[in-house]
Amino acid sequence: MYQPFNPTPRTLMGPGPSNVNPRVLTALARPTIGHLDPEFLRLMDEIKALLQGVFQTGNALTIPISAPGSAGMEACFVNLVSPGDKVIVCQNGVFGSRMAENVKRSGGQVILVEDPWGRAVDPEKLRKALHKHPDADIVAFVHAETSTGVKSDARQLCSLVREAGRLSIVDCVTSLIGCEVAVDDWGADVVYSGTQKCLSCAPGLSPLTMNERAVERIRNREKPISSWFLDLDLVMGYWAEGQARSYHHTAPVNALYGLHESLLIATEEGLQQSWARHHRNHLALRAGLEALGLALIVPENERLPQMNAVSIPTGVDEALVRRQLLQQFNLEIGAGLGALAGKIWRIGLMGYASRAENVLICVSALEAILSQHNANIHRGVAVDAVQAVYDAGQD
Ligand SMILES: *Cc1c(COP(=O)(O)O)cnc(C)c1O
Repeated sequence: MYQPFNPTPRTLMGPGPSNVNPRVLTALARPTIGHLDPEFLRLMDEIKALLQGVFQTGNALTIPISAPGSAGMEACFVNLVSPGDKVIVCQNGVFGSRMAENVKRSGGQVILVEDPWGRAVDPEKLRKALHKHPDADIVAFVHAETSTGVKSDARQLCSLVREAGRLSIVDCVTSLIGCEVAVDDWGADVVYSGTQKCLSCAPGLSPLTMNERAVERIRNREKPISSWFLDLDLVMGYWAEGQARSYHHTAPVNALYGLHESLLIATEEGLQQSWARHHRNHLALRAGLEALGLALIVPENERLPQMNAVSIPTGVDEALVRRQLLQQFNLEIGAGLGALAGKIWRIGLMGYASRAENVLICVSALEAILSQHNANIHRGVAVDAVQAVYDAGQD
């Protein structure tokens, strides 16, 4: 007979989901109430205000889409891109390719600005593309490329887009909470994120924010949006202030309890403190990996603290190592994707999982398993290297 499903607790250090904060798990289990209950309407208003806080924006349209990060991405493209529109997409990994695919499926024409996997988006290439394609109204790029562990300079890219009078769509799924996301300060027009990376909430929601310029573009569309569920004109009605709310779909009530709790946790910690914690744990992990003899593949000033792409020692069966980490240590790390498949592991330190004990578990477990594989690594020094980083930070 079938039994209730009781998963083995894991330490989640892959590209997502990350470990969910226990406070969020408790919040998810609270009694379901009606999605038009006055108490729930109050919760929706608080979620909007808390999201404005973490996005650092005053945008009135700041809401969670009731579906995962990929739906937030799709919502941006189906609403803002009309058939025939030209869109510049900066592509330096998997998620940039998905943006391009979304433009095509919305009937738009893609102008691809490519950078190598493992490198940031080159602002010079964008500058040239903006010059060469004055009729491309929209520029899309990924702030934190989870597929490669690369952070692009969102502030600079957004200001280039703004100076050229175009509109930016920025993927901040992996960056939000883990490193600076400053929507208004950057002058970003449209930004979406996800709940399952550094927010340490359960997967399945996509916070999104857009300014008046973007909302105007949606309102002025000639052709109606092909998606009914993601039509932001309709969704905005559902997330309107207080009593003005009109039924669109049934909100994922309990999932929103979880998001509210995770936003409270992030607000209590403080954004600066959270970025500093992600940075400190990244430095400790880097020290441990380098002491083992493994190299981070991304140049230092382009690295994401919450996603570390690390080389695999020669001759090692990388999939077997990951399987053994899971079986012997309940530890999940990620594989490489696309051009980097079989060449790297991706080690996440996101949100609740970005903590010293996880860095120590990961480095020791890797050392133990790579030793079983007779890999060419330095033994017996990695844990000290990690500890030295934390000790140095304690004065
Ligand atoms: C994870 C991720 C997404 C997609 O989010 P899902 O919740 O998996 O749909 C989009 N963009 C980036 C950069 C991501 O890391």
